[in-house]
Formats: sequence, structure tokens, C-alpha cells
Amino acid sequence: MDLTQYRRRATTEVRIGGVVIGGGRPVAVQSMTNTDTNDTEASAAQVVRIARAGGRIVRLTAQGPREAENLRHIARRVRELGCDAALVADIHFLPEAAAVAAQYADKVRINPGNYRNDRGQFAALVELCRARGAAIRIGVNHGSLSKRVFDRWGDTPQGMVVSAMEYLRECRRLGFDQVVVSMKSSNTRVMVAAYRLLAETMEAEGMHYPIHLGVTEAGNGLEGRVKSAVGIGALLADGIGDTIRVSLTEAPENEIPVAQLLADHFRSREGRFEVRRPERYSPTEYRRRSTVQTPLVHREFPAGFRELEALSANPTAELRAAILDLDDREPVAVCRRYEDASAETVAVKAAADLGLLFLDGLADGIRIVAPRLAEAEIERIELAILQAARARMSRTEYIACPGCGRTLYDLERTLERIEARTSHLRNLRIGVMGCIVNGPGEMADADYGYVGAASGRITLYKGREIVERNIPQEEALDRLVALIKANGDWREPEEGPDAVAPAKSEDRTAGGSAGGDVPAAAPAAERSAAGVCDSAANSAGAVVPLSAGGAVSGRSVPSRPPAPAERGARTSETGAGRSAEAPAKETTSTEG
Ligand code: SF4
Repeated sequence: MDLTQYRRRATTEVRIGGVVIGGGRPVAVQSMTNTDTNDTEASAAQVVRIARAGGRIVRLTAQGPREAENLRHIARRVRELGCDAALVADIHFLPEAAAVAAQYADKVRINPGNYRNDRGQFAALVELCRARGAAIRIGVNHGSLSKRVFDRWGDTPQGMVVSAMEYLRECRRLGFDQVVVSMKSSNTRVMVAAYRLLAETMEAEGMHYPIHLGVTEAGNGLEGRVKSAVGIGALLADGIGDTIRVSLTEAPENEIPVAQLLADHFRSREGRFEVRRPERYSPTEYRRRSTVQTPLVHREFPAGFRELEALSANPTAELRAAILDLDDREPVAVCRRYEDASAETVAVKAAADLGLLFLDGLADGIRIVAPRLAEAEIERIELAILQAARARMSRTEYIACPGCGRTLYDLERTLERIEARTSHLRNLRIGVMGCIVNGPGEMADADYGYVGAASGRITLYKGREIVERNIPQEEALDRLVALIKANGDWREPEEGPDAVAPAKSEDRTAGGSAGGDVPAAAPAAERSAAGVCDSAANSAGAVVPLSAGGAVSGRSVPSRPPAPAERGARTSETGAGRSAEAPAKETTSTEG
């Protein structure tokens, strides 16, 4: 991993049907059907819709030999419809299903956590795939590690990597290189650490298999997009990733434009930014840089809060280098301007550019400058990024699966109904999962769970414990609300405009700081008293371009972003202030 510049990890090429990934090719986007794989027409039609949206790789669940066998008919129908998308079979438990699917699919995905391999079934699968020219994905999920791995490593990034490496080494031993690997989690911090650790471990063993990126159970709407963009974007910024899937609890074809936007956003990231203190950075271990416990959105910045604005084509590396250069633990906010008119586009780009700085514990505040968006939209995006990066919770988080052939109810509508009743709650995670086979493991992070148990039946969870089993779906939402109330986690919705919530910093998983609320609506003096920032250098809110070397002068600096012409000039003069070509010491401007 190169901290100073954008450089893609070198990978071997893997062919998946008519699509080749790796080897420096553009990042391929993909999705997964949520139809019943036994329903040939519906599945083929959905594959075609995904392909027409731009997804050239489409996965279908093959939970048993019957579904795997039907891939034959789906593949034929897809080709009849004139679609050449690569088809991938998703196997959960049964080696028998994998063996059938390998006859028809272009790639077979197995989860080492629940794939039985007690009689050499994996080696047999490799031979089947080799014979047909099909690929394999070793798809590790944070929520479903094997008991053997879990008992030794827990559900940690290390455990995930151990799980994958066991199968990757087997592939190498068998001389099979058409392998892709993934490390998914709904917890972005765990997910990013696991992928980085995987890349490091593979590098140490001379393995260059392509990597498939994804955040599981990201939910829907703007928040779901931001969550995926934070996790996937952080890794793409590191140069990791050859194919991506954005999981949304929506129609699968909706995932493609978001994934393509992410892939395009990282197509070129020019600029070199010298990191003089690399020892201050650890890519696989969360470290909070300052003492600020709750990162702020721009409306909350106290007077004199130091801000660094990225002006280059690689804002992530530029900001990271600049923050690591700061001498002390002074709080620092990061800023970036976007000219797009679409809130979704700004959200995805900003989450991809800035999320990593919160995932890694480096930044303390966020300012998105988006002249074509309303102030409320910008604040919603800033809060969503902080939440997705697990830096600050300001609304209920839904760990909602995207659905697949196992789904037992209408996930999209149900999630909307659950959101309508519970989205005003704060600091809660609610799992909304389509099936009981994988749902409980995948939502292990949730405070409450709503899980499909059978057709028309729901099982409710409190944490990892079942509290109501197989209840009728018509009653399930009321009973979920009653459960939340009974546990003291309910509050009534507030009247009037939805003010920004006092938020809790979030760090239940990766060992960072906790608590430390900062009343968002509090006056600046009050926030300073809370120890967020005590600098009074600039009451106007200084936006300090990185070219200024991060030195906030006593001079009042307007908080407005620079006009494009100014930015262009400043970038060319000094925008590489952290770069080898134009060291920061040569610049003095504090122009914002
Ligand atoms: S939790 Fe169940 S329904 Fe949801 S995507 Fe996973 S396997 Fe499919």
C-alpha cells in the first residue's frame, strides 16, 4: 500500500465468462439477483436488467442442487435474450450444489465459513472448474466464520484472513489461479481492515489474486449508498479492488450506477503527496489521532477549528498526508468541494474521498462544499459519512440484506415500513434480514433483528438472542417496536424540524474511544468548553487549503470555497504542497 500516491495493487487476470478482471483492467461492477433461482423466467429477466444497467457479472444464489441445476436453464434463457453477462453461482453450505453449479456457471462462489470440506470437496470443485474454464471466489463473510476459526481468532479481521488464506493456499497447491477473493462485513471498519490485512498477507506470500470488494447489508437509500461508498471507496483509494458490488436493499439494477460511479471516480487519481511521518499511520489497526470523541459536521465547527481543504485529484492521499504531518493532536476538519447537482452523486464521491479519514481515526470534522445542493442535504450527507465510517451515530442504522433467492418476504417494502416507525431512534442498529439461514450471523452487530423464519413468519432478536420465534409477519413490526420499548431503547418522535441529534461516537467494534457527546446545536463557546477545539484563531471558520501547509494564520479567512479559477491557480501553484514537487514550506497562503 502506497500512502503517497494512487497505485493499483498488481493482480493476475481471471476470466469469468466473457469478462476478464484483474491485470490492471478497469474495476468491473456486478450485482446479484434476488429472485427465486428455481424461477427461470424471473431470474433471467433480472439478469438482463442488471446487464442492461451495466453489470457484466451477475450472481445467483444456488442454495441446493435443485437451484444449481436450474442455472442451466437460466443461462440458456439469458443467452436467448441476447445477454452475455457472466453468471456466478453463490453456494452456501452444500458441496453437492457447488458441483452441480460448476457445470453451468462462469464462476462459483463459496464461503469458507460454511462450506463443508471434510472429504476433499474443495479440491474436487477446483478440478471441475478447471475443466470447464470457470473461476472460483473465496468469499469470506465476517458474520459466518467457521467455528474452528472463530474459536481461535474470534470474528476479527485476522480470523477472516486466516479463513481465506487456507483456501487460497489450497488453490495454489493445486496450481489453480482463476481465483478471486473477498472479505465482506457490514462493519466498514472491520471490512477495510480485513481487506488491507488480506492484501498484505497475500503480498507476503507472493499471491496476486484479484479482489472483489463489498460492504454487506448496507441498507437502502442515500445512507445505504454512502455506507458502501465509504467501505469500497477507502479500499479503491488504497489501490485495492478489481471488481465491486454495492449491496442495496432495492432492485439489484439500482446497485449498478452507484458501483459504476465509484469505479469511475477512481479511474485516475493523479498527485504525489509525501508522507513524512508514516509511523503515525497503521492501516490495519484503528488509532484515534486526536482526543476529539465525536467528529463534527460543518455547521457545528467551533471558532478557529482547523480545516484542510483538498484541491488535488487525489483528495484522500492529499488529506491523509497533510494530517499525518501535523505535529500535535490538534483537531482537524477535512473539506472538499463538489460541483455535481445530484445529492446521490455528491454523497457517493464525498464518502469515497473522505470516509477513509474517519475510518482511520484521522479527522475530526467534515465540510462538504456543494453549491448546487441545499444545506440540509449537505448536512445529511456529512452525517451519513460519519455514521458509515462508525465515527458518529446520528440515526438508526439498518443492517439490511440485499435479498437473494432465499429471501422470505418483500424486503424492500418491509425495510421501508420499519424505517418509517424507527428511523427517529438514535444509536441503534436494527437488522432486517431475509432469511434465518444466514441472517442472524450477518447481522451479529445489530441491537435488534427482524429475520425471515419461514414464509409469512418472522423471528425477532435482541442482540444475538431470539426473543420471539415464528410470529406472523402482520404482527412483527408492532412486536419489534414493543420489544424496543420493553428494553428502554424507545423514544417518541420529536415534533417540528428534525434537528441534528446529539450523537454518540461509535466504536463498539474496533477498540476506539466511546461516548464524548458534543451537543450539536450548542453555541461555539459551549463546544469549545467541551474540549472539542479551543483554538480561537479564526472566528470566520478557516478553510485552509493544503497548499497553505495547514498553518492557520491569525488572519480572518472566509469560509467560502474558492472559485474554480482560483482553485485551479492555487492547485497548480501550491496544490501539491505536500508533494515532492512543491513542498509545503514554499507556500504561505491561507486563502480559502
Ligand atoms: S440473509 Fe438470507 S435472504 Fe438475505 S441475502 Fe443473505 S442469504 Fe439471502
